[in-house]
Amino acid sequence: MDALTPQPELLSLLPEELEQLFLSIGEAKYRAKQVFPQLHRGLSPREMTSLGKALQEKVLQNASWHLPTVEKKLVSAIDGTVKYLFGLADGHCVESVVMKYEHGNTICISSQVGCRMGCKFCASTIGGKVRDLTPGELLGQVIAAQKDMGERISNIVMMGIGEPLDNYDNVIKFLHLVNHKDGINIGYRHISLSTCGLVDRMADLAKENLPITLSISLHAPDDETRSTIMPINRRWGVAELLGACRSYYAQTGRRISFEYTLIARKNDSVEQARKLAQVLNSHLRTKSEGMPIHVNLIPVNEVAETEFRRSGRDAIAAFARVLESKGIRATVRRKLGADINASCGQLRRESMQTAKG
Ligand code: SAH
Repeated sequence: MDALTPQPELLSLLPEELEQLFLSIGEAKYRAKQVFPQLHRGLSPREMTSLGKALQEKVLQNASWHLPTVEKKLVSAIDGTVKYLFGLADGHCVESVVMKYEHGNTICISSQVGCRMGCKFCASTIGGKVRDLTPGELLGQVIAAQKDMGERISNIVMMGIGEPLDNYDNVIKFLHLVNHKDGINIGYRHISLSTCGLVDRMADLAKENLPITLSISLHAPDDETRSTIMPINRRWGVAELLGACRSYYAQTGRRISFEYTLIARKNDSVEQARKLAQVLNSHLRTKSEGMPIHVNLIPVNEVAETEFRRSGRDAIAAFARVLESKGIRATVRRKLGADINASCGQLRRESMQTAKG
């Protein structure tokens, strides 16, 4: 390998790529079968006794290994939610949150360092996007959290820092890696991906044929409101986005869930709830069968730098009632980790501010 080619990252490699790596350094390809499961359990090559000292060093001369390091860990005294600030090889940080449910542990992972989507209520986007995460860094969050907690993680939501569909190729590769039977082996049906609505990429995703759950961050029923809080809406408006949802469902048969962050006096009126029911029903249930629609209502998490405030309890209940009355399932998201500010983006901001002094 010449000095200009970046070294492959061990955690980003599929088993067949790992085989190629071993072959390229003059080693037998069965080594890949030994190493892949151990990497995915969080072992460094130096901890793999089956390789022997000489081969451990040879691997590390030809490839890089870095597992996200726990820079900070907050555990909720209320519900056991764990929030990690993970350090990456180049010193940047991302956040992951592990939530404990009866059906198992769910991790919320980040997809980029920062974000360039510019949603006005979101802490992750304030400093813009720094860079994409590699497949190995996406996977590394799951491995590192599982290793630190000593418990299996059974579900993944891609709802942390970043826009997963803006880091498309790496995210798709990560999905294949994390689903691999010799690795962490999390079923696609246990993985959700949330997007602010990159319509072109939604069409690509439909073709991947991965039975993951797609979530759409809708947050407003009309272009006027949505464009003021989500700049992406100026590229693809509500009608185009819901049209893309309809195609996605038609192609994959996978139902889509919608996220709706309730912001006081911005998008939480009964009028807006009616409008929301109307646009969802008209785009997604034109025929009598149609797609079952589920909206997650999320009281906005107040971010220090923004002026957005939470809707009152009554407004939230009234909003949900209107949706239900129009045949749309609405649930108000239970807030986990309230005492550790468990939503993503804020811990990284704090650490950046501390670093700046
Ligand atoms: N970029 C992706 C995933 C990351 S954000 C997306 O937009 O879907 C995960 C979810 O949290 C999104 O629905 C996002 O709109 C929402 N969110 C961001 N900031 C929030 C805040 N301050 N309060 C409540 N929800 C927020």
